[in-house]
Amino acid sequence: MRIATGGYAHETNSFGSIQVDKQILLKTLRRGKEAYFRSFSGVGSSNGGLIDEARELDIELIPTLRATMIPCGPSKQAVFEEFRDEMVELLWQAHCEKPLDGIALCMHGAGVAEGYPDLEGEILRAVRSKFGREIPIGIALDLHGNISPEMVEYADIICGYKCYPHVDGYETGRTMLKLLHDMILRGSRYGKALVRLPWHIAPAFCTLCHYTPHAPPPQFH
Ligand SMILES: [Zn+2]
Repeated sequence: MRIATGGYAHETNSFGSIQVDKQILLKTLRRGKEAYFRSFSGVGSSNGGLIDEARELDIELIPTLRATMIPCGPSKQAVFEEFRDEMVELLWQAHCEKPLDGIALCMHGAGVAEGYPDLEGEILRAVRSKFGREIPIGIALDLHGNISPEMVEYADIICGYKCYPHVDGYETGRTMLKLLHDMILRGSRYGKALVRLPWHIAPAFCTLCHYTPHAPPPQFH
């Protein structure tokens, strides 16, 4: 099974004065297989979880383009668009080399770029417009994403962290890839629904977390 991965993870404060420019992006950009595995192998993040789950399920994981920005103001439009277009192109190249079975993206869920108030929805829309409806797409997100109707429409699986502090990114990456793997094997999509719950979660809170004995220690990356 071949699953490609990538993602533009940017927790955005749309009131923030510092924008993601090329300099900020380049500090965190990981392009291709070697840079990805060197950065995320053994790391307790969603990408680290993807790597271990892929190994366990005998999935060929194909990294394309990955960036995790510091939380700040919106990304500059040209910077975001350049990233989006290159990531989609690299996904497509991987597909042309040998057909992909799925796409697994790790993002934040509260990303904003100039001209794109729903950054994740835009990335997913761009991937779908290149690949069509056939290919299953899973995404792993942070705890406090803004889940849009477009994200639900374009993605087949959305998994978010459950813990604050975010110590379950690793498990979230693994869960998302496992669900994607199982969906591909069963050959049909899961049902989807977007339900907005009638409460608001205060930002300063903690959850009790239980680590699985096999999970590596959490690291923020
Ligand atoms: Zn968060």
